[in-house]
Order: sequence, then C-alpha cells, then structure tokens
Amino acid sequence: THPIHIVGAGMAGSEAAWQAAQAGVPVILHEMRPQVGTFAHRTGDCAEMVCSNSFRSDDDVNNAVGQLHWEMRAAGGLIMTAADRHKLPAGGALAVDRDAFSADVTAALRAHPLVTIEAGEITALPDEGNWIIATGPLTSAALGQAIAAETGADALAFFDAIAPIVHADTIDMSVAWRQSRYDKGETEEERTAYINCPMTRAEYDAFIDALLAAEKTEFHEGETAGYFDGCLPIEVMAERGRDTLRHGPMKPVGLTNAHKPGEKPYAVVQLRRDNALGTLYNIVGFQTKMKYGAQTQVFRMIPGLQDASFARLGGIHRNTFLNSPTLLDDRMRLRSRPQVRFAGQVTGVEGYVESAAMGLLAGRMAAAQALGRDLLPPPGTTAMGALVHHITGGAEAKTFQPMNVNFGLFPPVEAKSGRRGRKDRYPAYTDRAKQDFQVWLSAQ
Ligand code: FAD
Repeated sequence: THPIHIVGAGMAGSEAAWQAAQAGVPVILHEMRPQVGTFAHRTGDCAEMVCSNSFRSDDDVNNAVGQLHWEMRAAGGLIMTAADRHKLPAGGALAVDRDAFSADVTAALRAHPLVTIEAGEITALPDEGNWIIATGPLTSAALGQAIAAETGADALAFFDAIAPIVHADTIDMSVAWRQSRYDKGETEEERTAYINCPMTRAEYDAFIDALLAAEKTEFHEGETAGYFDGCLPIEVMAERGRDTLRHGPMKPVGLTNAHKPGEKPYAVVQLRRDNALGTLYNIVGFQTKMKYGAQTQVFRMIPGLQDASFARLGGIHRNTFLNSPTLLDDRMRLRSRPQVRFAGQVTGVEGYVESAAMGLLAGRMAAAQALGRDLLPPPGTTAMGALVHHITGGAEAKTFQPMNVNFGLFPPVEAKSGRRGRKDRYPAYTDRAKQDFQVWLSAQ
C-alpha cells in the first residue's frame, strides 16, 4: 500500500496518523517544527496545546463536546487516550498536564511501526497520492499561498471574525420579528430571512455604554492586529462615535416592528440564519474582542435576546481556514484536487477537540481509500457527523466562520412528553448520538 502523507503533527494530524496506521496503512507525517515555528507553539512535540490545557467538558450526557470525547474514545482515538492518561483534577472538565500529554502522543506515534515522522515544511500542494493537510490556524505562509492559489484568495481566510451565534429557539419572538430589510426577496422565505430585535433610544444608549465599558481581550504578540474595515469589532466601531453602529450594522431603516407597527425603532439588531437546519442564527456584523463573560451580559441587553443561549461567542483571531462548504466534498477532499484531504482547524472547525475529531475522520477516510474501500461520514445525529456535515454542506457558505461542536448542529429531537426545556432534551441528543455512532463504527 502506498503511504498516506499527512502535513502537520498538531491535534488533527497526530490523530489522523494514528487512525490510518491503526488501520494498517503506512503514514509519513510531515512537521515543520521546531525548524520553522509559529507565534503560538513553543516545542517540537506533536499535538502541542497552544493555549489552555483543557479539552473542555467531559460530560457526555448533557454536553456536545463531552459527546465528541465519547465518540473519539469509542473510535480508539490517540488524543483522548493520552488525555485520559494525563488528566488533572478540573471538576467536570478534561484538563491535562500539557507537556506529559504531548510527550505521550509523540512517543506513541514514534513507536508505531507504520508511522514515520519527517521533519520539514511542506510548501506546495501535491499532484498525486493520498494526502491530508492538517496545518492548522497558523499554516505556514508558503503553504497558505499555495492553498490560496488553488482555491482562489476569497475562499481562504487568514483571520476569523466571528459574530456570536444564538440558538434560534431561545430568541423571544414576542419581541423580535422576521423581516428582510425593505422586504427584499423573491420568496416569502427570503422576505422573512432575518430576525430583528428593536431598540429604543434609552436601550441603545445603555447598550453602547456597556459595550464601551466591557473587558476586551488583546491580540497575541505577533498575531498582528491587521483587521480591516469590513470586519471591525463592534466595540471599535462604538469608540469611533456613539452613532456609528446605528448607522452601520444596527441601522433601523427598511424595517417595521411587527409587534408595534406605529413605533419606529431607534436601532435594530439583525440575526441571520447560520445553518440549513435553521436552528442557529448569527448576530449580523457583531464580531467582537469582548471577553466571553462580558459578551453574554452585553448581548442579553438586546431586546428579544434577554434569555438567549449562545452556540458560540464572538471573536477575532489569526486563523487560516478554508471556505469548506464550497471547497470540500463530504469525504473532506478538495473538489478541485481530490488527492488532497483537509483536516483540523483549517477546515473551519474550532477547538482542540473538534480539530482532533476531524483528524480522526480524515485519517480513517484516507486509510479506507488506500485499502480500496469508501468510508461514509458518520450520520449527522452524532457529534462528529454533525460537525463534518456542517462544514462540508450545512453551513451558509457566504458567512462561513469557524464552528465549535454544539447541539444546534444536530437535527432537533422532539420532546417525548409535555413541554420540556431545550436542556432537558440534551440526554436524548446524546443517547441517539451514541447509538448511531456505534452503528457507524461497527459497519467499518
Ligand atoms: P495545530 O494543532 O496548530 O497543528 C498544525 C501543525 O501543522 C502544527 O504543528 C504546525 O507546526 C504544522 N504546520 C503548519 N504549516 C506547516 C507546513 N507548511 N508544513 C509542515 N507542518 C506545518 N483551541 C482550544 O480548544 N483551546 C484553546 O485554548 C485554544 N487556544 C488557541 C490559541 C491560539 C493562539 C490559536 C492560534 C488557536 C487556539 N485554539 C484553541 C484553536 C485550535 O483548536 C488549536 O489551534 C488546535 O491546535 C488546532 O488543531 P490543528 O491540528 O488543526 O492545528
């Protein structure tokens, strides 16, 4: 069997290498560190944790990332095995001793008879073979240019500018209403594509004050705050003048409050559908560097969002990622160059766990291909399946930004009896996910 080449021995590449080798296929794992560094990595080890030492919640009943842990363990994942071995006490979270964790992943890969680790930067996309590119949010400049040349510059981002994403069923529709600006659109669906939250002058003033006072995060050193006017953080816009937002993303024009037709709102916050399922909405133009705690407080001041639950909060970071919904097929291959698969954060997922999960999947898919088989992605009812379906098709391509795993990506489950809150349904999501993941695994 020809070897699979994997570029990048981070969270995704390490897991992909392990999965492919465990399937019996030789792997050459290319890693540029320590010869070529990034602003965030410090070592030459595999699967280095660049910031926090936590894999987040380990609750596989009530938490989507915990469910993803469960699926990765069921699939014999190296990242979870090493994490469990080097776990530190951290309440319900899976936190680890980062150096021992990375050393363990590195040793396991080095000891595997089918894995060869080759030092050096890869700077071009291959013309043939079976490749996985897992070079992460800090993909080297040369390879980033080669990818942009293949995909077109518009389809590869170097920064993310994430507006907060809200679970649609937590928006108070007795305050908010559905309407596109100037009722634009050919169909009723298009004319009602946005959800609008109205503000009075007093509410707007209080909101701007809170925004200006909120604690913000700084860019990392070397991250270069090269953001441009198209994706300025809302707090930066507010600093430029109290009315800047009211004339920008919060302009009230072309909209009539369905609940109070006679009253002209002073400002309007708009939310736009974020996935095909219609379970998630992003707040239009609301990318921000506010700290997470502050974001929840400030955004719940928006009328209609007072009880909002957030699938993810906003942010702006240095982050190389593909417009996967347009570029990748459902086997994570580049449509224009199917010998290249992508995995990890560069595919537009966000987080250590999500990146490793996409590596797990890509490694198994590449191995299946090497063995003359075809592996379907797991069903969308599983955490791994929900994520890969989101990035390769379910997400809105035009506004695609990196995504954490969350229950909003899962097809909704109906409450079995009576009126139950969304949180009461989480165990039903994870039960279904476990069953469906087992079926998928045992079919391989
Ligand atoms: P990485 O783990 O970064 O692995 C990519 C690997 O590819 C690296 O080893 C790199 O050296 C190598 N590489 C790059 N280009 C080339 C090339 N041309 N040739 C050969 N090798 C190459 N997520 C969290 O869950 N928690 C956090 O606290 C967190 N903090 C973050 C902080 C920063 C500063 C950044 C940038 C990201 C953070 N993330 C965090 C997001 C993300 O989950 C991690 O970056 C995660 O490591 C991504 O996994 P990955 O395998 O896709 O990329």
